Amino acid sequence: MRLKNGLNLSLGLSIFLGTVFLTTSTWALPNAPPASSDNLKVYMEQIIGQQGHRNYKNIAELQRVSAWIKEQMRLFAIPCHYQNYSVNGLGYRNVVCTLTTGHSNKVIVGAHYDVLGEQQGADDNASGVAGVIETARILAQQKSQLAHNIEFVFYTLQEPPFFKTEQMGSYIHAKSVQAQKDQIQGVYILEMIGYYDENLVQQYPVGLKWVYPSHGNFIAAMSNLQSYELGAKYCQSMQTLNRLECQRVVAPSFVSAMDFSDHMNYWKFGIPAMMITDTASFRNRHHHSKGDTLKTLNIGKMAHVVDGLVYSLMAQSE
Ligand SMILES: [Zn+2]
Repeated sequence: MRLKNGLNLSLGLSIFLGTVFLTTSTWALPNAPPASSDNLKVYMEQIIGQQGHRNYKNIAELQRVSAWIKEQMRLFAIPCHYQNYSVNGLGYRNVVCTLTTGHSNKVIVGAHYDVLGEQQGADDNASGVAGVIETARILAQQKSQLAHNIEFVFYTLQEPPFFKTEQMGSYIHAKSVQAQKDQIQGVYILEMIGYYDENLVQQYPVGLKWVYPSHGNFIAAMSNLQSYELGAKYCQSMQTLNRLECQRVVAPSFVSAMDFSDHMNYWKFGIPAMMITDTASFRNRHHHSKGDTLKTLNIGKMAHVVDGLVYSLMAQSE
């Protein structure tokens, strides 16, 4: 993830639509087991690995991580294939996995697995990848309760120098599914979901601090107008679970502070997409540094974020 704090903020804020506090009634919880923080920890340890960093220069490490993800998903009986492409003569790959339920509609749930530079990237974005894997594990056992297929996608090359280019794994994937646009109900991107702080640490683009909490103890659901319903449903799930506060941000897609992850590539093709995030560098002082390690994360709260996603996806089937 990368944030652009300065430019276009005044423009962005002038058209910012404001936070939407939920007043709608809650629904009954679907019957699904909770996410396991033990599992999340093991996944993140595997993604981070013992040596090497999964950046664009380290093809061997990117291959190790993507192969591990594919094998882990196979253990849940979710088949995957690699979406291969090359950049500057080097091969890169997304991992695309399909939970087939016999329906024609589908939902996409994704996270990027590459890292910037030489760091663990625990929050950015081992946390998001682990969250997608745990979501897959739970939903594989709930297939009969789903009214859509789910495509779980793990993206390569999200980070600079490919950020905001057509070499991003999520751009490659979004482009590849554009012909199925009518069947895609929504895209959920998990981008940094592990960092929380109950103290007054939260930063915002100028102006938003008057609208949002000053503590850093919530998960944020960021959408645009087209994906308004996705964000609403996710925060409604979180509200029903009542374990972790959820804040919604809704803004047009051209607000720069909103387009800092893989969801933006689906927006380009007119596919509704939203991002679930701990707000990254607006909160986590270790963002894009060697300090972004597992021990700084709150894995119990990560599990709550996954529970909200599981319930949101099951509720979507009702
Ligand atoms: Zn990043």
